[in-house]
Parts: sequence; C-alpha cells; structure tokens
Amino acid sequence: MEKVTSPATRWSWVEVNLAALRRNTAAFRRQIGRGPQMMCVVKADAYGHGAVPCAKTMHAAGANQFAVATVGEGIALREAGIEWPVLVLSEPPVDCVGTLVDYDLMPAVYTADFALALGEAAAARNRVARYHLAVDTGMTRIGVRRQDVVELRRTIDFHRGLECAGTFTHFATADVLDDWDFALQLNRFREAVEALRGAGLETGLVHCDNTPGTVLHPECHFDMCRVGIGLYGLHPADVTRPRIELEPVMSVRGRVVRVLYPNVGDGVGYGLTWRVPKKNIQVATVPIGYADGLARELSNNMDVLVDGIRCRQVGNICMDQFMFAVDVNSARAYRPSRPIEYGDVVTLIGSDGNESISADEMASLRNTINYEVVCDFGMRLEKIYT
Ligand SMILES: *Cc1c(COP(=O)(O)O)cnc(C)c1O
Repeated sequence: MEKVTSPATRWSWVEVNLAALRRNTAAFRRQIGRGPQMMCVVKADAYGHGAVPCAKTMHAAGANQFAVATVGEGIALREAGIEWPVLVLSEPPVDCVGTLVDYDLMPAVYTADFALALGEAAAARNRVARYHLAVDTGMTRIGVRRQDVVELRRTIDFHRGLECAGTFTHFATADVLDDWDFALQLNRFREAVEALRGAGLETGLVHCDNTPGTVLHPECHFDMCRVGIGLYGLHPADVTRPRIELEPVMSVRGRVVRVLYPNVGDGVGYGLTWRVPKKNIQVATVPIGYADGLARELSNNMDVLVDGIRCRQVGNICMDQFMFAVDVNSARAYRPSRPIEYGDVVTLIGSDGNESISADEMASLRNTINYEVVCDFGMRLEKIYT
C-alpha cells in the first residue's frame, strides 16, 4: 500500500470515501424514484462515518431530510450549519422540549405529556413545533400503540404550538422476503394512517421503509424512505445484494509502530495467549485497540492486510494496540512479499492490492452485524475523508 495520508499524531485512522457515499446515495435516490422524499439516517455519527461531512455529501446527492437518534446528534448538525430538516427518531426526555424548539429539531412523538410540553415550549417562543408521530405496529420498541393513534392525536391536536409533519413506523423484519410479520406490520400501519385520515387528522409525510424496506418493498415507500446502512455501502442482508449495487465507504487502517523477531516461546500481549512457535516469526504492533472499536473477542481470530497479503492477528487485543505475526519463511499465505517494516500500512477493513476484508467478514467473526462493526470504529479513530 503506497501513498497514504495518516494522521499526524497517531498511526491509525478511519478512511471515509465520500465519492462512494455520493454514489450510494445517488443509487438510493434512483431506487426511490421521483415522488417520495429521501431521509438519510446519520445517527451514531453517521454509523461511525462522521455525521456532518456525510450529511453534506448526501444532500448534494439528493437527500431531502436527515434522521438522528439523539438530541445531541441533532444539535451537532445544527452547530455545523446544517439547516435541512432533522428528525430525532425517538421521544427524548420531556425536559429538553425547549432545546428541540431552539434547534429546530423534530422529535418522534408518542405520548400526550411529551407532545403538550413540546407545544407549550413552542408557543412560549412564538413558534410551531413540527413532530413525527411514531406508531408501534409490532416491533414493540417505541411509538404509540396502533389502536391508540386517533385518541392520542385528539388529545393533543388542539394545541396551536404543534404541527404533525410526519407519521411513521419501523419494521422488525423488512430484510426478510415474503415475511408474514412484515405484512402484518404494514397492514397495521396502513390501518393507522387510514384511521387518522378518516378522523380528519393531518398525517404529514407517511414513511416506514428503512434500507431493506426501500430496496425490497417499493410498495411501501409512501411519502418518504428512511435510508441508513445502505448509504454507507453495506447491505442489511444478503437478499438486498442482487437488488442494488453499493460500495463500502469505510476503510480502517493503521501503521506498524514497532516490529521485531521475538525468541521462540516468547508470549504476546496480556495473558500471553499466543506464543512464538518457531524461528523467523515477526511480530508487529499497530496502534488500534478495543477502545477504537476493534472488539477484543476478535483476539487470535482475525486477519489484517499488509501489501495485499493476509496476516494473522496474535495475542489479546489491547485497549489501544494489537499485534500481528508473519512467518517470513512461509511458502504461501500469511507472508508478505518482504519483511514487515516500521511504518507499513495495515488494513483492518477495506482493500489492499487484490485482497480485501469487509465489515461483513469482521461482523461474522464477531457474531454481530456490519452496523455494529462500523459504529464501533467511529468511536475514537481520527477520520480521513477522501
Ligand atoms: C436506524 C433506523 C433506520 C435506518 O435503518 P437502516 O437499516 O440502517 O436503513 C430507519 N428508521 C429508524 C426508526 C431507525 O431507527
């Protein structure tokens, strides 16, 4: 791997390919078609990719609105000068209603107490607070129960400080084809929307599709799709792979800060869980650890790339560092074309030469999903935008 820009103060970083992000966003814009809006989900710092630069790139590629998980994430967008609509995907603590109005953030709403407090905060500022009504159609997470939507709205709609800008639900199984539970949730959502309309209540934008929904269920795009993981070039499930072409946006790399030929029998890392089995083994150290999102459970069970060759990680992953080993005499894999040197670039996620390691590979080694892998690497590593 040649020609890299590494951060000045630490030889580890997340590379964010904004051109790939732009192409993925454009691909979803095409998938959604002309009518519905596209809400890009940038919660958890854009799934670890950096919310502000990602939101700007997505907007340039056709995003209409943004969604975050927390009020703090919404404030961060506003303070960076982002003025497009922002939805907070759950109902935050009632004490922050004034903050929501001040920063022009739309919360999800599903209780009367919260809605009325929000209306009061808005009225006190001579403003109208826009919100999206969240409906629980079967995921049992957040939202008003579907049978209670009309009653809730009738309790709060008198308030001049409130405006319903959207009505939405979230699917538990949008990534499963021909799923009975998905169909049930969709039916319940349609009924709730019909009930609101039947009662003469404004629904605002109706939306329910997340990434797998957007790709697999065009019949329920309604007025807007909420796209998250796919924008970052990752598939929510294998079934979406043939339906849309995406490029991974995140790579994770570090550089070798120390390398040596230990003695045969020397142990590596806390607990000395790996020992040097023979002569001419090199052990190299890279400054990325579990506090950077490299899960400790991967210890002694993952590869990294150097010069496009897979090398074995060895020893327990530390908080801020890990080690890997190469057998400089080995005939085949796990041996780079030359001995490892100080400063060599090491790839944990991404491509190097003809080899690559995907977030999906790391997720399956960790027994989790690609979402968690990229969120984790967003925690502390410096981000470099390319
Ligand atoms: C996270 C989230 C999304 C985006 O989901 P993806 O699977 O990443 O597309 C959409 N809607 C809600 C309510 C969410 O919490």
